[in-house]
Amino acid sequence: MKNKNAERLDWARKKMVDTQLIPRGLKDERVLEAMRKVPRHLFVQEVHRSSAYEDYPLPIGEEQTISQPYMVALMTEALKLSGKETVLEIGTGSGYQTAVLAELAGRVYSVERIPALAGRARKTLDELGHSNVLVRLSDGTMGWEEHAPYDRIMVTAGAPSVPEPLIDQLKDDGILVIPVGGDLSQELIRVTRDQKGKIRKEKMGGCVFVRLLGKHGWEVNNR
Ligand code: SAH
Repeated sequence: MKNKNAERLDWARKKMVDTQLIPRGLKDERVLEAMRKVPRHLFVQEVHRSSAYEDYPLPIGEEQTISQPYMVALMTEALKLSGKETVLEIGTGSGYQTAVLAELAGRVYSVERIPALAGRARKTLDELGHSNVLVRLSDGTMGWEEHAPYDRIMVTAGAPSVPEPLIDQLKDDGILVIPVGGDLSQELIRVTRDQKGKIRKEKMGGCVFVRLLGKHGWEVNNR
């Protein structure tokens, strides 16, 4: 039998979907199911476990944050995943968003620039048995050339503009979501590339992310 604490967290996770995601208009049943399944509390530091299913971002160390559950679900829904896609994710962080993507896509390649976060995320993802995920330590603004092109790309840090290498590594018929804007707030942008390679950009609303640092992002020393 499960202990009381595990039961309480399971309940909080289901309640999160019913009170934070569905009422705000999220509809993709596969995404909602993944949000009901992935144990977000295992991706946050021990002291934050009891608030893992609350309606806000949380610190994950190294001055970085795990996004609000709604933002994770919104960005995931925006990718329109059917189950077979190859996905590139930039900004592994805790690995929580990676795990949600791993539930919904064929393969996930995730890039993180901070060694301690990449290491911890890899460990958590391994422990949960996500064998369709690879985490790499490097500057994600360059993409991950080796496995390109990708059906879908998700960036979970705020960029001054859409990094060119990511557009180059997106397949025809592909979708890329990325927060673009200033330091304090950004606009969530969905970039689609049609079958002829034509690029279309669509605004999806405001958001607040930590900076995407790197060659095609914000300058590393300018913080
Ligand atoms: N999606 C994550 C949260 C991401 S926070 C989660 O679910 O926990 C943003 C992350 O992007 C941070 O971990 C930060 O180190 C990383 N990041 C910033 N610039 C990056 C870059 N150029 N390449 C890879 N990762 C980057």
